[in-house]
Amino acid sequence: MFVSERIRAIKPSPTLALNAKAVSMRKAGVDVISFGVGEPDFDTPAHIRKEAVRAIEEGFTRYTAVGGIPELKNAVIEKFRRDNNLNYESEEVMVSCGGKHVLYNLAQATLNPGDEVIIPAPYWVSYPPIAVLADAKPVIVQTRQSEDFKLSPEAFEEAVTPRTKLLILNSPSNPTGSVYSRSELEGLAEVVLRHDICVVSDEIYEKLIFDGKAFSSIAQVSDEVKAKTFVVNGLSKTYAMTGWRIGYAAGAREVIAGMTKIQSQSTSNPNSIAQRAAIAALNGPQDSVQAMVDAFDERRRYLIERLNAVSGVRCNMPGGAFYAFADFARYFKETPEGVRIGGSADLCEYLLTGARVALVPGIAFGQDDFMRFSCATGLETIKEGLDRIEEALGKLG
Ligand SMILES: *Cc1c(COP(=O)(O)O)cnc(C)c1O
Repeated sequence: MFVSERIRAIKPSPTLALNAKAVSMRKAGVDVISFGVGEPDFDTPAHIRKEAVRAIEEGFTRYTAVGGIPELKNAVIEKFRRDNNLNYESEEVMVSCGGKHVLYNLAQATLNPGDEVIIPAPYWVSYPPIAVLADAKPVIVQTRQSEDFKLSPEAFEEAVTPRTKLLILNSPSNPTGSVYSRSELEGLAEVVLRHDICVVSDEIYEKLIFDGKAFSSIAQVSDEVKAKTFVVNGLSKTYAMTGWRIGYAAGAREVIAGMTKIQSQSTSNPNSIAQRAAIAALNGPQDSVQAMVDAFDERRRYLIERLNAVSGVRCNMPGGAFYAFADFARYFKETPEGVRIGGSADLCEYLLTGARVALVPGIAFGQDDFMRFSCATGLETIKEGLDRIEEALGKLG
């Protein structure tokens, strides 16, 4: 069978093989504990589910406007005004089938062959392939744990070339949980304005933020910066709605129109029923969000304390999202059976087979010394998982 060059250009996710292995171990009856989950372990709140049922019963089951029904676009506009003090018009927002789909449409609508997209590492796994699928070139800029994995204006500017089109920022970050402050964003914005670059600001974890910190978007820095920013957000994480597939974008109307055109020829509108549920989520009571943040906060504190108590492991306290990104390079050595652990993927394999614990290797996010832990699992499970990891690491000496 023949496949396209495009498909050849994309590497399979290094996490997939491990995931498949964890799944088959579970099927075989092994009780695998998973820190790999990338979605909240909570149910979609009841009032959102009810609105979806109502939509079905009312027969709201046909094609809708491609970029989302006006009521949902209004709810999105109102959300930006209320939460971020950002004003957008209807032609400046659109709704897609999840935040990932927004990013895909955005890349297709803005990038030409050979254009460069600056992506700070560690990065969300889908950013580089989304750029590659638009025939663009991902330019990875490494950040340091000692700088809380944040891109500095200097490192950003050094990576800029005449071909640079986009910078992708993700705050709070998956996988590190780092949150950019207003002044840090101002520093990056200066570089953006000095060059002809736009920013993609992935704000999907906006609401999952700890210690009462306020969220800042780079679009808030000034009107000039807002004009060069595409905000990407969605319902998946905030409202535990990963399966519903609703995400949204805000930015320059020419690009939003382009993204809508691409969507019209690929997926058409996002699911009609999920759109109605999304209106209920954005306009309805927000107390479920706080309850989820409180649960993640408790797990985060426990997880980070335990991780830093493991000899040689270092983990920063995440300011948001529900992940921890910990340095495990000290355990890249030989197993008692004489198998060499050469990096994060090998260590994952060792912990999966040796400790029945599933993690995502840092290499999937562009930093091989690290392992990503998700807190989207109960506190008791986190405890048991860490006990198993400690025991298995102990055997490595
Ligand atoms: C989960 C996630 C998304 C998008 O998720 P959707 O379900 O497609 O809305 C986007 N960016 C990051 C960093 C994520 O972790």
